[in-house]
Amino acid sequence: MSPLSLALTSLAARWNSALERELPAAEELRRELHREPRLSGSEHPTTARLVAALSDAVRVESVADAGGVGRIGPSDGPAIAIRAELDALPLAEATGAEFRSGNGAMHACGHDVHQAALVALVRAAEGLELPLGLVTLLQPREESYPSGALDMVEAGVLDRWAVAHVIGAHVHPGVRPGAVASGGGFINAAADEIDIRVHGRGGHAAYPHLASDTVAAIAQIALSLPEVTRRTVSPLRPALISIGTLSAGEGAANVLPGEGRVFATMRTTDPADRQPLFEAVRRMVEHVAAAFGVQADVLRIEGEPALINDVYLAADADDWLARLGVDGAEPMRSLGADDFSYFCAEVPSLMMFVGVETPDRDPQPSLHDPHFLPDDSAVGAVARALLAGYLAAAERVLGIEHHRSDFTEREEARA
Ligand SMILES: [Zn+2]
Repeated sequence: MSPLSLALTSLAARWNSALERELPAAEELRRELHREPRLSGSEHPTTARLVAALSDAVRVESVADAGGVGRIGPSDGPAIAIRAELDALPLAEATGAEFRSGNGAMHACGHDVHQAALVALVRAAEGLELPLGLVTLLQPREESYPSGALDMVEAGVLDRWAVAHVIGAHVHPGVRPGAVASGGGFINAAADEIDIRVHGRGGHAAYPHLASDTVAAIAQIALSLPEVTRRTVSPLRPALISIGTLSAGEGAANVLPGEGRVFATMRTTDPADRQPLFEAVRRMVEHVAAAFGVQADVLRIEGEPALINDVYLAADADDWLARLGVDGAEPMRSLGADDFSYFCAEVPSLMMFVGVETPDRDPQPSLHDPHFLPDDSAVGAVARALLAGYLAAAERVLGIEHHRSDFTEREEARA
């Protein structure tokens, strides 16, 4: 092991035991946060509670409306950021838990667990000498638009706080409880929306030769979209277009409508496929429309970019997880989306998925299910994943910056 690795190992052991001591309070905090969830854009009370819980350790500044950011450890030089999302979902909770929400919103995506884990990790770092700054990103609006992560990036948070890497961890019932899935490369897809409006001349259904048939046109366009995808993107790189809305007509059987709409989501995993696929869709739609004698407007509504984990951070985090006694798991790749990807697009970053279990439920409820309620152990499991992420990121920054630092010398002397 290198002197740097040994020094970080000594820090990891002390941080991990301090973390154990913080967990009972953090589990209590998680229940409190769970009881009082706030929807996207209205997270201010949640932020205020977290700022209070962190107040001994860090001063949090407001950013991106309901968001917050603060820094512990060395106040200059590069920092590692850790992100926790603040928002809940518009769901009526069905868990029956003693600490269930009664306000029509629910932490059904585990963000209450992420928040409590971040608080535990930061409080546990008090009294330790961190080699690099730790920046807390309390991020609003993960579940809706406009994206809170994008707002934080655009507010200059990463530059201003000298963030070299961002670390995130998300609970997931699809990973074995207690295990952590990292994995380099694409984890989530870029999610754009394609809004296609078709215009023609309406008329009597018995005289279609005197009108234009927008219904036939949108039907043909719908069938052409998977074909465009197949012919544009290599089958070795996941991509898809799914139509969520197809509409025309006002309910009559004997009226040919003049307008039709196809509204679809486009998911790509390689940034190089994103623009070419959209352009191919536009060409196909315009030509199909022309063939039916109608006009089509094709609009792309840009969503989050693909979430691409840094391969080195992922490999190093796996090592640290093993050293902390945490099992690894296969990477959780999907064509879902998470706005953590805006951080990944700015600096090499890492998102992990932490296996959790809802007690007494078979089958296990998925994320966003009104029965989803990971047990208390999820807080510690997420906090340890974040710790492994910080250590991996610190190892990369320090390893690149200097081979031997004051930090390694002090930690060697301590060990
Ligand atoms: Zn989530």
